[in-house]
Amino acid sequence: MQSFEWVDAESVEQAVSLLGEGNERMPVVAKAGGMDLLDLMKGGVVIPHRVVNLKTIKGLDGVRFDAKQGLELGALVTLARVSREPEVRRRYVALADAAEHAATPQVRNAATMGGNLLQRPRCWYFRNDFFHQASGDDVERVRAGENQYHAIFDNQRTVMVHASTPATALVAYGASVELTGPGGKSRVVPMSTFLLPPDMKRPTDTMIAPNELLTRVIIPAPAAGTKAAYHKQGERESYDWPICDVAVVLQMDGKTVRQASIALGWVAPTPRRSAEAERVLVGKTLNEELARQAAKAAVSGATPLSKNAYKVPVLETVIRRTVLAAAAA
Ligand SMILES: Cc1cc2nc3c(=O)[nH]c(=O)nc-3n(C[C@H](O)[C@H](O)[C@H](O)COP(=O)(O)OP(=O)(O)OC[C@H]3O[C@@H](n4cnc5c(N)ncnc54)[C@H](O)[C@@H]3O)c2cc1C
Repeated sequence: MQSFEWVDAESVEQAVSLLGEGNERMPVVAKAGGMDLLDLMKGGVVIPHRVVNLKTIKGLDGVRFDAKQGLELGALVTLARVSREPEVRRRYVALADAAEHAATPQVRNAATMGGNLLQRPRCWYFRNDFFHQASGDDVERVRAGENQYHAIFDNQRTVMVHASTPATALVAYGASVELTGPGGKSRVVPMSTFLLPPDMKRPTDTMIAPNELLTRVIIPAPAAGTKAAYHKQGERESYDWPICDVAVVLQMDGKTVRQASIALGWVAPTPRRSAEAERVLVGKTLNEELARQAAKAAVSGATPLSKNAYKVPVLETVIRRTVLAAAAA
């Protein structure tokens, strides 16, 4: 690993200003829990000139719930805390479960909400620096290669998937992120547009600018009758990256679905809202057969690659079960 300068930031303003001094020749990167950044540095994928430690900034680790405004999570709140915070567990169970099932206990104790959303794809071609070494059409090479964990939807321009599993729940809840830049100016960006299809030519797979910090995650207050569930399907019970994950948020009126939000992770370049499944559910009485139809509709447009067609029936089953789990919650 190449040596680098380390700065303990004392405020958002200072961190933003330090990040703003970076350029292509002298990259400056932020570090929160360091769980992803250190991996990338050790692999030589990211070679910073300066690392700005955000953990020393006070006040970025708050959790606040308000019945009108909803939930606010500071960027430095750890996944472990999200998983056990009483207000999150009571009102946003799909998010609490997504945080609880991400990574390992040790990782969750260090990993932060902000860093989790900004982590880079787990694609092994990217992690092994293939995209820098290779010439020609890299996406085509991956498409024809070891693509068993790659996208089964929207996979024409890239086949990589976003790594964050809490992002799947946040998309289902209609969350937004707050980005703060120079002069303390902040903007609030919906999760649905914040995450961008992974692109190795960019230093990030989100809309964040090089001189911005992700400062908060904001989730709207749940409407009356909201029920939710989350499921991460791996190849094994022990910690692992998912084959797919599904978050379902339903607004129920008795047994009738008033509104449905179904987000599918690890199957498309960004977590995918399944409008097809949502359309099947809304206005109907929820039962096994309806859940089955919704799951079928959700996977009908899948375009699997040479080695990942197995994901389609797995996803269909997980959607059906998660819809039923949400209704029963
Ligand atoms: C064995 C293992 C299993 C895992 N399984 C899962 C899983 O199932 N689901 C899942 O979602 N993740 C999983 N992870 C990944 C892990 O959750 C992430 O690496 C972690 O959440 C990243 O958060 P962090 O705070 O450590 O970020 P860091 O590594 O510190 O930062 C990540 C990126 O975000 C930038 N950054 C961080 N915070 C900010 C901020 N506030 N503003 C601007 N830029 C910022 C950094 O510059 C860096 O580019 C796993 C990791 C391991 C090692």
